[in-house]
Amino acid sequence: MDFELDDGQRLVQQTARDYAQKTILPQAAAIDREERFPFEILKGLGELGLLAVNVPAALGGSEAGVVAYSLAMTEVARACASTAVTMAVTNMVGEVIAKFGTPAQAERHCPRLADGTWAAGAFALSEPGAGSDPGGMRTTARKVDGGWVLDGQKAWITSGAHAGVIVVWARTGGPGTAGISCFLVEKDHKGLLVGKHEDKLGLRGSNTVTLTFDDCEVPDDALFGELDGGFKIAMMALDGGRIGIASQAIGIGLAALDEAIVYAKDRQQFGKAIAEFQAIQWMIADSTTELSAARMLALRAAWLKEHTRPHSREASMAKVWASEAAVRACNRSVQIHGGYGYTREFAAERHLRDVRVSMIYEGTSEIQRTVIARQVLR
Ligand SMILES: Cc1cc2nc3c(=O)[nH]c(=O)nc-3n(C[C@H](O)[C@H](O)[C@H](O)COP(=O)(O)OP(=O)(O)OC[C@H]3O[C@@H](n4cnc5c(N)ncnc54)[C@H](O)[C@@H]3O)c2cc1C
Repeated sequence: MDFELDDGQRLVQQTARDYAQKTILPQAAAIDREERFPFEILKGLGELGLLAVNVPAALGGSEAGVVAYSLAMTEVARACASTAVTMAVTNMVGEVIAKFGTPAQAERHCPRLADGTWAAGAFALSEPGAGSDPGGMRTTARKVDGGWVLDGQKAWITSGAHAGVIVVWARTGGPGTAGISCFLVEKDHKGLLVGKHEDKLGLRGSNTVTLTFDDCEVPDDALFGELDGGFKIAMMALDGGRIGIASQAIGIGLAALDEAIVYAKDRQQFGKAIAEFQAIQWMIADSTTELSAARMLALRAAWLKEHTRPHSREASMAKVWASEAAVRACNRSVQIHGGYGYTREFAAERHLRDVRVSMIYEGTSEIQRTVIARQVLR
């Protein structure tokens, strides 16, 4: 067993860390405060190969693997969680198109996602009435001569207003999960309407919108993967996506922990640094231990995926543990900061707001536990 990263993984990690700390971190508070979508930063991530880390080089990606992707995601999230989620979905979209797309689809979309020509990619699965249960979706795709007509509404779509390409799931067959297909729809397509931007607790620099498809006609070659085979694509994409969200949560948790340590060493009460009180030390010990365990789980799931081994259960384990450990770490960081932790003077409050959604999106904690239990009990 070898816990060392290889040279390529270390290079990706260091590249992401340098860019995150020097360029992204100084802007993170303003991105949050002004709800500023980070166009320029994303362009920079594209130039560094961080928008398509696990996409083949022939399609413009870095081909650096899933472990490298997890490391890069953690570094970016450590600086700015809003940027990280945008990066996560773009990587997921590029990867899924490279894997399931026709050569023409992959050659059109992957290089543009990889180099940041398109600001982002988007993944449109959820609907107002179908979140944990995407099999209940109501968006339809109707066959017409030469193409398909999409009708319906998608909810919560990350980067939906800015993405160059959107992967859209729609019902082409009967009820349930069997009659769902996948389509690629480009930005500004006729019949694609961008709706309200969600006013969120955190990740305020990320863009989250509803998308309405109103008689939206796409050509035959917009069908992505097999007809009625879309649900399988969604589930496979989410297995990988959950590794990304686990890695994002770890990054936010580590940022909160780092700041708590600095503050605890500096803040004096009762004539000494609060870091000298055992209550504070134990909080720091618990966050350090829990985030370290999260990292092991995330890297193990990433390693399994990289070696094309089954990783669905491990991805869910990584996601549920990492997100909940990171929420606890961010909560402790606010506690260690005392009253100052409850103000915008310190980043602790932003981390707590940003991290909370990691227990909800790409499958809630309850759904992760259902996935794990189903596999354990089978
Ligand atoms: C900021 C943000 C960004 C997002 N980005 C995207 C995106 O880019 N693309 C996309 O497609 N979606 C996206 N989503 C949607 C997200 O994946 C869903 O919100 C999530 O899957 C939960 O669905 P829901 O909100 O409808 O909650 P519901 O499914 O209604 O769940 C409500 C509660 O019931 C629980 N519950 C539901 N079913 C069960 C069950 N069987 N057993 C036990 N408990 C259950 C849930 O765990 C939860 O606690 C995003 C969401 C947010 C908040």
